[in-house]
Amino acid sequence: MKNHSYDVIVIGAGHNGMTTAAYMAKAGLDVCVLEKSGGLGGGCVTRELCGPGFKSDPASTCHITIQANPLLLHDELGLISRYGLKYHHPEILYSVIFPDDSSFICYRDIDRTCASIAERFSARDADAYKRFCGWAAAGLEMMLPTMFSACPPTGQLFSMLDQSDAGRETMHALLLSGMQLLDEWFEDDRLKIAMARQASEVIFDPHEVGSGMHLYMLTPFIHRFGIGVPEGGSGALVDKLEACLRAHGATLRTRSGVRRILVQDGRTTGVELESGETITARRAVVSAVNVKQLFLQMLEPGHLPAELPHRVRRLKSNPFQSFCQIMALDEAPRYKAGEEVNRSGMVEFAPATRREFRRYFDDLQRGQIRPDVPAMVTQTLFDPTRAPPGKHTGYLHCYAPYHIEQGAERWDDIEKEVANEVLGHLERHTTNMNASTILHRKIINPREIERRNAAFIEGEATHLGNYLFQSMAMRPLPEWSHYRTPVGGLYMTGSSTHPGGSISAGSGRAAAQILCQDLGIDFDRLVA
Ligand SMILES: Cc1cc2nc3c(=O)[nH]c(=O)nc-3n(C[C@H](O)[C@H](O)[C@H](O)COP(=O)(O)OP(=O)(O)OC[C@H]3O[C@@H](n4cnc5c(N)ncnc54)[C@H](O)[C@@H]3O)c2cc1C
Repeated sequence: MKNHSYDVIVIGAGHNGMTTAAYMAKAGLDVCVLEKSGGLGGGCVTRELCGPGFKSDPASTCHITIQANPLLLHDELGLISRYGLKYHHPEILYSVIFPDDSSFICYRDIDRTCASIAERFSARDADAYKRFCGWAAAGLEMMLPTMFSACPPTGQLFSMLDQSDAGRETMHALLLSGMQLLDEWFEDDRLKIAMARQASEVIFDPHEVGSGMHLYMLTPFIHRFGIGVPEGGSGALVDKLEACLRAHGATLRTRSGVRRILVQDGRTTGVELESGETITARRAVVSAVNVKQLFLQMLEPGHLPAELPHRVRRLKSNPFQSFCQIMALDEAPRYKAGEEVNRSGMVEFAPATRREFRRYFDDLQRGQIRPDVPAMVTQTLFDPTRAPPGKHTGYLHCYAPYHIEQGAERWDDIEKEVANEVLGHLERHTTNMNASTILHRKIINPREIERRNAAFIEGEATHLGNYLFQSMAMRPLPEWSHYRTPVGGLYMTGSSTHPGGSISAGSGRAAAQILCQDLGIDFDRLVA
């Protein structure tokens, strides 16, 4: 049986694991990344799933949070300058279409957005939107430093916020539901629905207490940093991380799933693969998979505090997951809602009344499928390199519970029927989407999401639910929120840790900082 030895082993080649690995490799350590599936990237991949030349994203497609990460802002690993990572930023961030084809248009520019609100909704709400963005921007400014490094413990964070008026306003916003927050500022229900609909793409129900934090942070964030469309596809980020890792001599292995963390005298010594092969870690093992895999499958309970498995088991999932159709298109969609919608980064559909909006989320929570509220991204409008000349790629998705009322095991049987209903909705609200313009499509239901990535347990794209009580220094657990674990030399990163799911590389960078601290490496010098 083979036996290899490295300074640092990273389990899971999602973009967070790859990010931690890249910082450690840059620090001169001998790093090995072990990936279970046949390719690198986890939820950050691009594949030709709809025919040659059509580069499709089967999971993430818009890169938002990472736009503020010093990894990119200061190009700490040279991903932009040395390895060629490039983002396009749509001028129209998103549009929301209501059943009667009226719409909300959100521009990157706040004043243009306000002018559009005044024209379509109300002058009072236009003024309120401008003030809301300024108010929330003050909170965002305070929270940004906590997003890509370890978050201060909850008590410390709140006592810090309690020192200023802007901080106290931030506490107020974090603890409300999204809809309560919007009710405090706006009068027109359709505007509130549009804003909540877009923010809910982070995967949360805006009626849930604590969901105010997503609206509060995301609204000023997207105006300031934009929505990033990576050139070449979502996987371009991971391709550049791979290039960086290889340049620093790291080892990357696919089809190398980890079965067990090896522990001796309270400290990890390495890992055992599903094949039975063992690999030794001289200094650290970093888990970038779901914490439920780490603590409930890879470690024996005897190596953990008695209460830990129970606390991990009770971590909550999101109330719904995703159902996607990846498409090759002969032409870009033309929406009945108008020309500006055609040029939007994201196009989202929404019910027009509060009652319907609430019912939509209640239905999802009850396990019902709602194909009538999808979202569409046509990446080639901003990045033509993703398709043959003149053609387009489409990404049509809607929220869908993994545990549908028919039973999760029925997903494969009903996916086509659901996909047709979602597509029917798009066809009704466009003038040109039909069998002749949709050249090919690939359906990815929540069970397929899980099959493609073992860390997406039950189709959970953010590993754990995005609730306030599982966020910041409470993610995954208040006592283990700083990327360390009860086992010496064993660390965590990935969506199970702060700042959570989505393409942020936040936990990837933060875990690297903690590793540097523990291994006596000066992180600031490393990235200077
Ligand atoms: C349909 C869909 C759409 C999405 N859209 C967006 C979007 O537009 N924007 C956005 O920001 N986010 C989006 N997301 C969420 C985003 O993709 C994820 O939150 C993110 O990719 C998670 O990254 P990660 O590095 O934390 O973990 P992951 O990407 O989950 O990486 C974990 C890795 O570990 C590997 N692994 C699992 N088990 C083992 C094992 N035993 N041994 C070794 N390796 C193992 C997995 O194969 C995987 O490669 C979407 C997700 C889905 C599913």
